[in-house]
Amino acid sequence: MLIVKKYGGSSVATPERVRNVASQIIEDVEKGYQIVVVLSAQGKTTDELVARAYEMNPKPSRRELDMLLSTGEQQSVALMAMTLQAMGYQAVSLNAFQVPMHTNKTYGSARLEAIGTDRLQAELDCGNIVLVTGFQGVNRYEDITTLGRGGSDTTAVALAAALQADRCQIYTDVEGVYTADPRYVKDARKLEEIGYDEMLELASTGAKVLHNRCVEMAKKYNVQIEVLSSMVKAPGTLVKEDSLVERMMVSGVAADKNVARISVIGIPDLPGKAFALFNLLSQQGINVDIILQSIGREDRKDISFTVAEENAEEAYEIVKKHQQALGAEEVTCTKDVAKVSLVGAGMISNPGVATQMFEALYSAQVNIRMISTSEIKISVLVDKDQVEDAVRAVHHQFRLYKKESGR
Ligand code: ASP
Ligand code: MG
Repeated sequence: MLIVKKYGGSSVATPERVRNVASQIIEDVEKGYQIVVVLSAQGKTTDELVARAYEMNPKPSRRELDMLLSTGEQQSVALMAMTLQAMGYQAVSLNAFQVPMHTNKTYGSARLEAIGTDRLQAELDCGNIVLVTGFQGVNRYEDITTLGRGGSDTTAVALAAALQADRCQIYTDVEGVYTADPRYVKDARKLEEIGYDEMLELASTGAKVLHNRCVEMAKKYNVQIEVLSSMVKAPGTLVKEDSLVERMMVSGVAADKNVARISVIGIPDLPGKAFALFNLLSQQGINVDIILQSIGREDRKDISFTVAEENAEEAYEIVKKHQQALGAEEVTCTKDVAKVSLVGAGMISNPGVATQMFEALYSAQVNIRMISTSEIKISVLVDKDQVEDAVRAVHHQFRLYKKESGR
């Protein structure tokens, strides 16, 4: 049996934790399993490297950033190999070049395209525990690329798919996927399992347990992921194809504070205005999330939309610059908003879900600024200082809390 295991940065942050992870790997080696381990950079290493880059250059080139950031993962795998060797086990570390793990050419957010398995298989066949750097790849110019922050999860799933591993385990500092962030909602419950689509919605709406690309990849190659804690031995959450029978109506509530809203007020109510506006943003590669357009009045309309907070200034400046051309009366931008999303595969067939969510928000006196829905998700934009109340109210409304809590 072949297992791919991935440990996040906090799981290998200190020498003790590295040893702890090494012992966990050894337990499985002793059971006779072949093991490939993907590691992230230790603790806050990647953040520190980013800070060092910006210290030297406020606009570091993406190529050089990748060159720098990829060193964090290389440290982790080498240190883990040495630790395992010191404990008397055979281990070898490999970086993206050595595997090799090919990506497209996009520095900073590269996509994995092809993984060679010969070297990996040969190392496993020699009896080695194989340690692979997460987060990095190599592009057609033979440059190092990175997969975007949090990308080691994706490396693990891609390796599991390429090697046709029997299991793919992602170890992190939480025990699994929860019905809500346990920091906001004390009685949030750990899910035994969740479908790919729901996990994808949760991953992209703020539940930071898994990288969203990794879930896309898992779905594409049908890799089941076990999300587990590296500190506590307990059953985690299985991420897999939804089983229709067990489909839950609602599986979780997520909050995303990394949101800003831009409103373009009083644009002429004419064809082509939305196109003109969003074309400006897409040309700059700015992703727009929720969009709201008002009904025209006196030949004018308003369009509001949300972007990630880090894109707020750039988006605002672009729109402001074209205010006249768009014929808009006013452009405003606020970061005092957050997005709360309710996710569940069973929503499609249960029309009352949105109403219940709005009722919960009303009871908590939370004002809804914008709404967007998909087949399995309802997102609302609320004021940032009400986000925790909103999550708690919605979580409670759908009775997603732990059964033991006696309610
Ligand atoms: N070390 C990288 C990061 O901090 C990749 C990862 O941890 O998945 O984003
Ligand atoms: Mg992570």
